[in-house]
Amino acid sequence: MAAVVHVNGKILTEEHATVSVFDHGFLFGEGIYETLRTYQRRPFLLDRHLARLRHSASLMALDVPFTDEELGRRVGETMAAHSALDEAYIRILLTRGVGDLSYSLSATPTPSLVIIVKPFVPHPERAFTHGIPVVVVGIRRNHPDALNPMIKSNNLLNNALAMQEALRRGGQEALMLNQAGQIAECSQSNVFLVRRGEVVTPPLSAGLLPGITREYVLELAADLKIPAREAQLGLDDLEAADEAFLTGTTREVTPVVTVDGRAVGDGKPGTITRRLLEAFRGKWM
Ligand code: PMP
Repeated sequence: MAAVVHVNGKILTEEHATVSVFDHGFLFGEGIYETLRTYQRRPFLLDRHLARLRHSASLMALDVPFTDEELGRRVGETMAAHSALDEAYIRILLTRGVGDLSYSLSATPTPSLVIIVKPFVPHPERAFTHGIPVVVVGIRRNHPDALNPMIKSNNLLNNALAMQEALRRGGQEALMLNQAGQIAECSQSNVFLVRRGEVVTPPLSAGLLPGITREYVLELAADLKIPAREAQLGLDDLEAADEAFLTGTTREVTPVVTVDGRAVGDGKPGTITRRLLEAFRGKWM
């Protein structure tokens, strides 16, 4: 997995990349992150990821004491320090930093910045050509009034428990409902349905992460003149759907062919899903 890691201004090999146990990211899960990948060795939509990082930070009163140029430069330097990199997986983490065991903001004057760069390992191509099984998990997405999914938080317990349940039940992603029983999102991706030629995805008000790929795919659908909109969705909509797919940085556009073992549509990747995946890859690969 050979990673090169930027830790607060130093570029280190993975064995030497450490942060203090007194970092509030470790102690309290107080931190945020972004996951990016490169296409043609250029980070995909870096500007949008940095904008989302700043938005996450603002929702937890965390300073981002770096300009976008500075962050982009540090990502570039970390990539350049890797000796065996073709396409890269990049994870940028920013935490409250090191301080006494107190929730007071005054305990942590300096945020910690970590940038992990390692070779990008794509999902098996079969996931894109044949689609994947998804399960609806019992664990609900965090209620936005408790821990807002708009904060892309290092505290991923909600997501990890959901994915672990999905893996136990033979799924490759975990579909989570919100407290009202509406479809929210998956543990690491956003969800879309297609019905009668129209693409539909839950609105941000359903309590979900505003995925960069989600937004990009909505723009792509507009370019392709495929009708697309946001709407509240329930499990009945999923049962009635002709197609379903997931979006995410590493998932791109991944067809969903079964939910809880039941076929979506005819149980094969749908036409519109395939058009969107093709268009997406046509632009980036
Ligand atoms: N929702 C969640 C909970 C995620 O962790 C991710 C992956 N970052 C996504 C959606 C997809 O977001 P993006 O398209 O920005 O990767």
